[in-house]
Amino acid sequence: MSWTLKVRDTFSAAHYLKEYKGKCEKIHGHTFRVEVAIAVRDLDPTGIGFDFTEIKKVLAEALPDHALLNEVFPFNPSAENIARHLFGELKKKYPVESVTVWESEDASATYAEDD
Ligand SMILES: [Zn+2]
Repeated sequence: MSWTLKVRDTFSAAHYLKEYKGKCEKIHGHTFRVEVAIAVRDLDPTGIGFDFTEIKKVLAEALPDHALLNEVFPFNPSAENIARHLFGELKKKYPVESVTVWESEDASATYAEDD
């Protein structure tokens, strides 16, 4: 028996990609959409795995809203690298299955770890 909880949030930020030839090489902004999937095996007596409100709070605190991502991260801030970073942050509190970061309506990167 298992469940997957999903919580979404967005953040607005600027970035540019080093070593990249094309549109994303120059500074520009995105409203990034983030979805976190958390594994649940047991429910509490209320029937809840983890409190959505709590997960949303932890996720919101991890999001670099209105930042220049190249200044706050030591890595090239691609959607792939942001997803891996947020996975690590959320993993400190929850059994995270995956983190997906959308850079636009139709482009996303999902990070998960093999176990
Ligand atoms: Zn971009």
